[in-house]
Amino acid sequence: MKYRDLSIQTQREFPNNARTQGFGWLVRAEYLTRENQILPLGQQALMRLQDLSKEPDFFSRLSLLVISNETETYFPISTGDIEIIHCESCKYTERIELAKFKKTALAGEEQLPIEKVLTPDCSTIETLANFLNLPKEKTAKALMYTRTSDNQFIFVVVRGDMNLSEAKLRNTIGEFRLATPEEISQAGAAPGYASPVGLTGALIVVDDLIPQSSNLAAGANEAGYHLLNTNCGRDYSPEIIADLVQAKSGDPCEQCGNSLTSISAISLATRSEFYFENILLALAEIHHYDKGLAFPKSAAPFDVYLMHIAGKEIDTRAKAEEIYDQLQSAGFAILFDDRDERAGVKFNDADLIGCPIRVTVGEKNLRNGMVELKPRRDAENSLVNSGEILSVLQNLK
Ligand SMILES: [Zn+2]
Repeated sequence: MKYRDLSIQTQREFPNNARTQGFGWLVRAEYLTRENQILPLGQQALMRLQDLSKEPDFFSRLSLLVISNETETYFPISTGDIEIIHCESCKYTERIELAKFKKTALAGEEQLPIEKVLTPDCSTIETLANFLNLPKEKTAKALMYTRTSDNQFIFVVVRGDMNLSEAKLRNTIGEFRLATPEEISQAGAAPGYASPVGLTGALIVVDDLIPQSSNLAAGANEAGYHLLNTNCGRDYSPEIIADLVQAKSGDPCEQCGNSLTSISAISLATRSEFYFENILLALAEIHHYDKGLAFPKSAAPFDVYLMHIAGKEIDTRAKAEEIYDQLQSAGFAILFDDRDERAGVKFNDADLIGCPIRVTVGEKNLRNGMVELKPRRDAENSLVNSGEILSVLQNLK
């Protein structure tokens, strides 16, 4: 393709909203706008990646450090829109909302009699734990939902020091929404002071640590009061016991016990689909240097950056056109910088855009029948007879 057809306008400066190097270089080289819209050059890069993705060793050809499990491939990046849990030791990897971890029950203790206590202004776990001078893990956190399919009122209990994973709950009971105040009071519960003790018509779903946790403080279903020493099984019976809580950094790995890490990431692929724009960003993140992008050969949008330097006596542009046609027909993807710009401007753009090889048609060398060939990042240029350029490039491929 010709440079002017792609209307490339490379940028001299990094955009001030560039939160990562890769994004910054993609904007400077005009693959993307600052607003993350794909430009024609980016489109070309995505098409190259789509073709390449048909190869069985696609990801290894991109030279990316990816993290994957059986269903999804991730690329760690600080600006990632998803969070994954990863075990460095056994490589266990899962989206945080579905990640498993090794749960440890608190030391068992004798079940004590239930006791109702006045707890004014204690509608959160924090205020309750402070007021009762209990660790949060000795409290029961209540969450109330209504199942969408049948309007069943759902009462969920997780330990006070843990957070519910809505994704895990969804996998357990199906789609749900927050319960309305009417639905809550109809079941006999009180917002902020709720527990499963003494409810009517509620489907009680508890995290699998709850039956192993004795004497938890829980709501008394009356504003301003809590119950001390509630015990699952004795004071209420759950219909469903399941893993419902979200893993976090530092939790032990379920498979090997090593400490888990949470990592921001983007998804590059699932079993059925590739996310090419994310793959392009990941490539730019890994493959750049101080002058521009440096994609691996197979993943670059073009094989060759072809340019002419305007001559005084010889029509260098006509010669470049000739080489362009010849290489195109031989199956090379060529970006022909057909502008009448100064050499320095074109060299800078070639470096920014990052095609694997630059071919320069200049008057001085052309007098001797030569053109200049420069592999990206190599300091050394070499001169090639213009008639042999095709075979030289074919050998390099
Ligand atoms: Zn592990």
